[in-house]
Amino acid sequence: MKLKFFNTLGREIQEFHPIHPDEVGIYTCGPTVWNYAHIGNLRTYVFEDILRRAFEYFGYRVKHVMNITDVGHLTDDADLGEDKMIKGARESGRTVWEIAEYYTDAFFKDLKRLNIRMPTDACRATDHIEDMIKLIQRLGERGYTYSAGGNIYFDISKLPDYGKLALLNINDLKAGARIDIDENKKNPLDFALWFTRSKFEHQVMLWDSPWGRGYPGWHIECSAMSMKYLGEQFDIHCGGVDHIPVHHTNEIAQSEASTGKKWVNYWLHGEFLVLTRGKMAKSKGNFMTLSSLEDQGYDPLDYRYFCLGAHYRSQLRFSFEGLDAAARARRNISEHIFRLRLDSEDRLKALSPDDLIGGTEPQPDAVKDCLDSFFNHIAVDLNTPKGLAVFWGLLRDEDVDPASKYRALLEMDKVLGLDIGHIESQIPELDEEIEKLVKERDDARKRRDFTKADEIRDVLKGKGIILEDTPEGVRIRKK
Ligand code: AMP
Ligand code: ZN
Repeated sequence: MKLKFFNTLGREIQEFHPIHPDEVGIYTCGPTVWNYAHIGNLRTYVFEDILRRAFEYFGYRVKHVMNITDVGHLTDDADLGEDKMIKGARESGRTVWEIAEYYTDAFFKDLKRLNIRMPTDACRATDHIEDMIKLIQRLGERGYTYSAGGNIYFDISKLPDYGKLALLNINDLKAGARIDIDENKKNPLDFALWFTRSKFEHQVMLWDSPWGRGYPGWHIECSAMSMKYLGEQFDIHCGGVDHIPVHHTNEIAQSEASTGKKWVNYWLHGEFLVLTRGKMAKSKGNFMTLSSLEDQGYDPLDYRYFCLGAHYRSQLRFSFEGLDAAARARRNISEHIFRLRLDSEDRLKALSPDDLIGGTEPQPDAVKDCLDSFFNHIAVDLNTPKGLAVFWGLLRDEDVDPASKYRALLEMDKVLGLDIGHIESQIPELDEEIEKLVKERDDARKRRDFTKADEIRDVLKGKGIILEDTPEGVRIRKK
């Protein structure tokens, strides 16, 4: 099956051709670790995980590199504001290094809870300052840098195709550009590679360099680390759409100026998760985290499912109604899966572990068609909503034998990552005390004493038991 993706560079769906046969090198921009990742960031990491899983499914060896931005600096080029790491440290009474360590760890935990595979190389910016310095030196030798006001800048006028990813029209931009706050720049779109003149008071993360003690600009880490681990040319670079006009544009400029060659073949960008009101931004302090969803009773995989319901290139509006629907859908899947397993226990036991997922054991034609259809949707620009529709179609198909169905769903889940192979029974074991409480609540409802009924429901919730009132009666499940 041929894989095809929408390449931002060219703005069209293109067939994927790897640089090295059966191998793919992927670089994804990682988190800035001065705070928790918000659920918008996590949507992008879920999309990148689907990409990675799709390649693995189709037999590629994947090298997936992600940076961890633990250098304190602003996350845009404006020379305003305050170093976010220092702010975080001051507010929590910790050192910047402790802050970075804490949020890096929290980020990895988020990935795990969302069943996102860990990058094959997760590299911290602070471990790669030497590589960044070497890259800046190389750019200097090739005539792309200038020094002004104690800082080193990239001179975009030296690169004729600057802005090709974002289709920037430099002349228009120059004519319309406001006067940049950083008066050192020759052109407002030039960007800093190295600062020796700190923008912030109390800067603590500083390194020696040929240009003096200082710290790197925002974009250089991604060029330095991706080329170190993936080579000077590699297959795919990803991130959210916000990174197209500045961060990725500048990454391309630095990388291609340093080698004189095309850098990355395919650029894939995930659209934003948006809120009904306003933008989700860490700096606004009003962002939602995975833990805040968990505190409200959701499973992280409910959020993963919610993300898969939209194509990665469409904006996704967050709502609790949408998340509730995802949670219900997942519960429904769990119940089906559990029943399928019970119904096919003997048959499944007879299969070797290899045959359980994929393998050589033949599947009925109807199942084969579903698998083909599912993986065709995934192969053409990762169409998870259509893939999910096929998944549900098979799940509900009463004519397919349970063992074949279960095996095929597991196969699809290799890409979806809903972890259906580990679903436990949702039906809790009821001990005497719980049965008594359920009965008392039932009686209270019959008496129309809803206050008492709600009270008992909360007590049961505290014990990990959820009661749902359905037209068919009360449904009891684990939290
Ligand atoms: P940051 O930590 O801001 O560099 O963001 C980490 C990743 O999340 C980047 O790939 C961003 O493009 C992406 N991102 C930021 N905000 C959102 C959002 N609201 N929805 C989806 N992705 C986002
Ligand atoms: Zn980056």
